[in-house]
Amino acid sequence: MGEDTIAAIATGAGEGGIGIVRLSGAGALAVAERVFRPRRGLPLGRRRSHTVTYGWVQTPAGERVDEALALVMRAPHSYTGEDVVELQCHGGQLAVRRVLEQTLQAGARLAEPGEFTRRAFLNGRLDLSQAEAVVDLIRAKTDRAMAAAVAHLGGSLREAIGAIRARLLEMMAHVEADIDFPELELEVQTREEIAAGCDEALAAVDRLLGGARAGRILREGLRVVLAGRPNVGKSSLLNRLVRENRAIVTAVPGTTRDVIAEWVELGGVPVQLSDTAGIRDTDDPVEQIGVERTREALRQAHLVLVVVDCAAGLVPEDREWIRELPATASRIGVANKIDLNPAFPLSELAESLGGAPVVAVSAEQGTGIPALEAEIARHAGALDAGEELLVNARQAEAIGRAAAHLREAREALAQGVGVELVSIDLRAAWMALGEVTGETADDDLLDQIFSRFCIGK
Ligand code: GDP
Ligand code: ZN
Repeated sequence: MGEDTIAAIATGAGEGGIGIVRLSGAGALAVAERVFRPRRGLPLGRRRSHTVTYGWVQTPAGERVDEALALVMRAPHSYTGEDVVELQCHGGQLAVRRVLEQTLQAGARLAEPGEFTRRAFLNGRLDLSQAEAVVDLIRAKTDRAMAAAVAHLGGSLREAIGAIRARLLEMMAHVEADIDFPELELEVQTREEIAAGCDEALAAVDRLLGGARAGRILREGLRVVLAGRPNVGKSSLLNRLVRENRAIVTAVPGTTRDVIAEWVELGGVPVQLSDTAGIRDTDDPVEQIGVERTREALRQAHLVLVVVDCAAGLVPEDREWIRELPATASRIGVANKIDLNPAFPLSELAESLGGAPVVAVSAEQGTGIPALEAEIARHAGALDAGEELLVNARQAEAIGRAAAHLREAREALAQGVGVELVSIDLRAAWMALGEVTGETADDDLLDQIFSRFCIGK
């Protein structure tokens, strides 16, 4: 590890003010020295750490490739913990790529996705939760998601997990002492100590798990589906919501296609608004496909906006499809076109939705829209959890396993099982938590995590 020197373009695709080629490894300075000629003074290999040198990147034949600044950061005070050189050149894609080519010809190897960060992890510069925060930070769509990633990057999750693991270790040490010195009859004391420790650890672990759902919504977005009969005003409403909020342009991967979807930010949460074809029984095969897609979108929804037309009133067909809504999604009743019928009985709609909140709006005139937005934002309201506790799916899975072992330990204690057996569960919980921070992560897990990164990170 770290034997070979890796290189990659560290800046994004497309035009920018500058482009950066990053080198890391024991030979980073040697490679950089071969391709970079300072305007004056010492060659790069003899520069001190954290210095900037102006000069040119050039070919072995001495032909200038680009003007550049070379940043030298020596081990261990660099991102990877190895010798690192950054060549900052002009931003054009061609220029940056030509600089990269020079470094590859001079002995560097093209970095794999996430390899810089993986080296940083292996050199103890950051733990796994911090490494994952690097990806989350790059992909963050909203201020809240960004704040969560920044908190993790700062080590908040590492600290929370570290505290629980330290407590478990203490408990395991007690058990060891019992086994080693049975004549001291420490067992009664140990059982109480372990029971209290388990309860404490479980409370902490459950707090982390509580942040998992919120964390998921922050990262992947709240999926909101607009549903209703044709012509009730779904598309008008979608347009209105998009027009009046900050639209997020990039789509989150892995979300429903085939249904028109727009991304907006509501209350710091990314919200995916999907328009649907309209729900009704039909024999037309083309329309049937639309209905099937609508059903699929409804199955995946966190929240369904049940749109009805005030002018038409709540008709039997409305009641029918409302009854068929999947139980998994929360609902908000939206009485649209309130401008046409201000006397529309909202309570009837609320009743048909089993007491769900109901908002009267006019997509056309804009009335009631802020109230609707507030109601949607409230649904993402589990997000009251502190940012530092918003764990991702992988972390939640490992923490969930730890919780299961802790519950088993608690149960076993209550049933009078011997502490040496209970300590097997304590150890398993301790191991599972170690996967979050990386202390007990194996190579497969690391591969899986770092493959999510882009090259250059
Ligand atoms: P969808 O089929 O459910 O997507 O409905 P549309 O958004 O296409 O709207 C159907 C018709 O209702 C259009 O003629 C809209 O202009 C009209 N419409 C939508 N919202 C309102 C509203 O709040 N008030 C009034 N008066 N008309 C509306
Ligand atoms: Zn429509």
